[in-house]
Amino acid sequence: MSLAPYACHPDHSRGRRFAQAPAPTRTEFQRDRDRIVHCTAFRRLVYKTQVFLNHEGDLFRTRLTHSLEVAQLARSMARGLRLNEDLVEAIALAHDLGHTPFGHAGQDALNACMQTFGGFEHNLQSLRVVDRLEERYPEFDGLNLCFETREGILKHCSPKHAQALEQQEPGGVGQRFLVHSQPSLEAQLCNLADEIAYNAHDIDDGVRSGLITLAQLQQVPLVDDFRREILLEFPGLAERSQGRRLLYETIRRMLNAQVYDLTAASAQALREAEPTNVAAVRQLPGLVRFSPGMAERSQVLKTFLLHQLYRHTRVMDTTRLAQQVVQELFALYLAQPQDMAEGFAARSKALVGSPGAAASMARVVADYIAGMTDRFATREHERLSGQRLLP
Ligand code: MG
Repeated sequence: MSLAPYACHPDHSRGRRFAQAPAPTRTEFQRDRDRIVHCTAFRRLVYKTQVFLNHEGDLFRTRLTHSLEVAQLARSMARGLRLNEDLVEAIALAHDLGHTPFGHAGQDALNACMQTFGGFEHNLQSLRVVDRLEERYPEFDGLNLCFETREGILKHCSPKHAQALEQQEPGGVGQRFLVHSQPSLEAQLCNLADEIAYNAHDIDDGVRSGLITLAQLQQVPLVDDFRREILLEFPGLAERSQGRRLLYETIRRMLNAQVYDLTAASAQALREAEPTNVAAVRQLPGLVRFSPGMAERSQVLKTFLLHQLYRHTRVMDTTRLAQQVVQELFALYLAQPQDMAEGFAARSKALVGSPGAAASMARVVADYIAGMTDRFATREHERLSGQRLLP
């Protein structure tokens, strides 16, 4: 199927920071997707927390399976809207590369540690991974991805960091946060695919963990309307032994409903706004969207998950330990940079005596910790502190 005029076309990409000859058989966005799948940070996603810590169970989502689910949803919706599937796949697979170990707990702790050194934002860190931290090419740092992929990866950015990016790369990926324009439709789509994915899999993982129940979810219409509809069709699923089948069918219908709602609402918005190319898309309000009714139902579910799952006392207990691991690792490496892996220790050593050395050295430590998997962070913390805080 041909791309819509408002889709990102690889031949009209704004290009890479370092010019490279085209590949014989792959488009530029396919190449980006391939570079991401082969990079080190991507493989680490399998050992990084989504909500449940990696050691808590083998069936819970990790950052990797989450990213794959986002890619699946985004591709499926992209095809329906005639957007670029390769680009959404690249953005989706890379969108969480900058996540710290231990999920949001790790990110909050690292952000607190970095407060006086410019802070820590995971979206910006994902961009840092693909722009600088991956060391795989002889001629440049990072993966040298196309502008459109990098733009999609930088989902949010504070004005302060956007200004810094704009200085390094005028008119680049930081600009839209300063002039308040939109990214490509592919980037907009990945943003919502992320939401659809975690809303659904966090219900699954939450119920599997026993921290939330389907009965509790009766207060969430987006879930419960389907549960009741299914029980009318298949009364046998009310049996206790059929609980998981009922849960999966509920989640499946909920996912379908959101995917089709978003596709229809966005198609409608595109028909009304009639953008003729990507440049027009950037100047319009966001066009990838849920219908107002679905947006509201999705918000009710998000609020439920926040209070009942993400802030569940059992989640909060491990959260505190995870934060302690990150905070103590940060202090330990800052005091003894030679305890970091060789490349990071060398980067830190080279900064001694340079202007702004304290902030730059803290950034090296943050890069090192952010790259860690849950278990590596736990073991490193034990090695350096003599204390094992997590299994
Ligand atoms: Mg995500």
